[in-house]
Amino acid sequence: MFQIKRLVAEPLLRLSCVASASNSVALSRPVELPADSSRQALPLKRLLAHAQANVPFYHDRLQEPDSSVATVSDLLNAVPVTTKDDIEANFPDGVTDGSDPADWRMMSTRGTAQRLITIQGFEKRDAVRAANLRMLRLAGGYRPGMPMVEIPPEVCENVCGEMGEEDEGVLSHLWSMLRERRLREQKSIRDLRGLVERNWIFNRKTYSGFGIHGSHPPPEILDQYVAGLRRDRPYLLKALATYLTTIAKHLRDSDAKPLSIPVIKTMGSRVTPGQRELLETSFGGKFWDDYGSAEFGSIACECDQHHGLHVFDDFFIVEVVDANGGRVADGELGWVLVTDLMNLTMPLIRYKIGDVGRIDHSPCACGRTGPRLTVTGRAHDVIVDREGGWCTTDDVVDFLESQPVVDSAQVSVKSKGWYEIAAVAIRNASIERGVLAASFAQWIGGQPRVDVNVVSTLRPEAGGKFRYVRGDLERR
Ligand SMILES: [Zn+2]
Repeated sequence: MFQIKRLVAEPLLRLSCVASASNSVALSRPVELPADSSRQALPLKRLLAHAQANVPFYHDRLQEPDSSVATVSDLLNAVPVTTKDDIEANFPDGVTDGSDPADWRMMSTRGTAQRLITIQGFEKRDAVRAANLRMLRLAGGYRPGMPMVEIPPEVCENVCGEMGEEDEGVLSHLWSMLRERRLREQKSIRDLRGLVERNWIFNRKTYSGFGIHGSHPPPEILDQYVAGLRRDRPYLLKALATYLTTIAKHLRDSDAKPLSIPVIKTMGSRVTPGQRELLETSFGGKFWDDYGSAEFGSIACECDQHHGLHVFDDFFIVEVVDANGGRVADGELGWVLVTDLMNLTMPLIRYKIGDVGRIDHSPCACGRTGPRLTVTGRAHDVIVDREGGWCTTDDVVDFLESQPVVDSAQVSVKSKGWYEIAAVAIRNASIERGVLAASFAQWIGGQPRVDVNVVSTLRPEAGGKFRYVRGDLERR
């Protein structure tokens, strides 16, 4: 069955592109731009001119197009940073281009902070499909038709059904459409397209999340996930980072035979550098990082060097900036800004996406010359230390998980110099609260107050994602 799916998936994908006038297969092929990024100037000029002429919010902030300005940096330097508050305050009429709403799709972000709706026209949706295909291919070698298992945060529970439940097959859906004469019914056709994409093109199964069990379900529940993965034998496993690490630790601690899943990816949350080895050992494959969001789709992904994320720079311009919007030097931490070259319906230009990271413009060992991004966490999860330095989610999580008998932990900044930690102990061990508090105090510096609570499981935010650090960067 696997072979048949492999054989039909690519032609089906092409066919569905032709049928829906989509250009996504062609767009999904990676494009290597010249190092001076001069080829980005043209689409950027197109975006700026369109936004200035048609989008009220940008009409006032952008200058009239000036044909003498040719470089990407000069063009960007003239544009102020766009924040989520700007978008929220002007949504929808002020931030859209007046095009026909019949072509619009609303994309809602499920971030742990602000909830935001982005509008995408057909051209952008096509680019999103293309970027996703490109990301899957470049970061792990996934081809349509290969088996994939996803474990998204629990937001998906009511549509995905029970864990491991078989989807309705494409043929049985088609048969019931025939029998019940629903061949022309819009909803049935959409469902059929969704089933073909899911089962044949992506060959995807979805397991439900941990739900009420929080971050640490009982071992017998974790056994069910492991059994499911052994049965479904995915080429690619894509899950919330918390689910990945908890299942991986369960495999390690139960002395079970490691799995053999070639490609491991996270969705909707970060895997820290310190967690990669555990995932690769337990799942028996390679972790491939990528970066994206609901507003933009896939933005960047790792190559086989695993040394930073290659930005899809025919679709996006990514910058890393300081508090004033000025670009920081390579390797320095700052806020990530994204300019979407493909969304004309609701342009997002120098948009402060809410993540912090570093950028590197030096050529990669793989030969690609475009910028590489390293994302280290969400901006509102950054803890600012005594010297004003940033401790990102990656730093904090990797520090806490390296402490003896700590399995995982959450930190909240209560006020300047006061931290509250909720920690889960590794199986059959107990955490000395005073020891953990002292060790965190020494790491963060100063004479902070550190309160430690020992808990049996961590609770997710609304929407099912886990937040490991509640920082204090935004309050400064
Ligand atoms: Zn590379």
